[in-house]
Amino acid sequence: MKIFPFGTLNGMLVIMKRFLRSYPSDISQRSKTGALLKTGPDATVAAERASVQQKGLITVEYPEVKIKPPENFRFIPFLLYEPVLDASGKPIVDAATGKEEMGVERCTACGICAKVCPPQCIWIVRAVGDDGKPKPKAAEFFIDIDVCMNCGFCAEFCPFDAIKMDNDYELAGYERHINHIYDYPTLLKSTTYYESIKPTDYANEEAARRAKEEAKAKKAAPAKETKKA
Ligand code: SF4
Ligand code: SF4
Repeated sequence: MKIFPFGTLNGMLVIMKRFLRSYPSDISQRSKTGALLKTGPDATVAAERASVQQKGLITVEYPEVKIKPPENFRFIPFLLYEPVLDASGKPIVDAATGKEEMGVERCTACGICAKVCPPQCIWIVRAVGDDGKPKPKAAEFFIDIDVCMNCGFCAEFCPFDAIKMDNDYELAGYERHINHIYDYPTLLKSTTYYESIKPTDYANEEAARRAKEEAKAKKAAPAKETKKA
């Protein structure tokens, strides 16, 4: 029987193609700016490599050279909140913390993410109102980042777009028993931050949300008119 490693050859061709695709944009951009001998990626090339359109290799000499991870990169999950906006529609930044003021938290403590998480590293406590009834809100939310396997299931299954995969990868520390159990305040990040790291996903989700709201409003309009009549 003749055995020829077509699969291996094909795999090597894919690697070669990606390798060669890494350099045309470097060379053309460098020749435009006249910085051919500069080390590290040019800002325009780095932005291209961080986008969903990136085609070449993204290996750099870290930590001397750092580039923004591609949009589809995923590491540890984080939770989203809508920032409070000023009159001009810009998020209000808390001068003391440097963080955007928190408006609505998206998480409803439904628990789906915790159920689907393969290594079971999410722990949620639902908030309870003064009347003793449970509220659609988390009182506590923990993720053990050492157990998390970065699969992204939690973000895929969340029905409220409340949990997303972060691109921040510089999380190493000397202590892991306390610092690597992320609590609710640590996990909460604004939608502005989400938009900055994953602009394509953010734009698609916002468009889908707007379309859903418009459809809902259209559906509700005839019902109101019928009531008036
Ligand atoms: S699935 Fe989404 S809304 Fe439900 S608990 Fe998890 S993060 Fe919160
Ligand atoms: S990324 Fe995967 S392992 Fe990590 S918390 Fe989400 S579901 Fe669990």
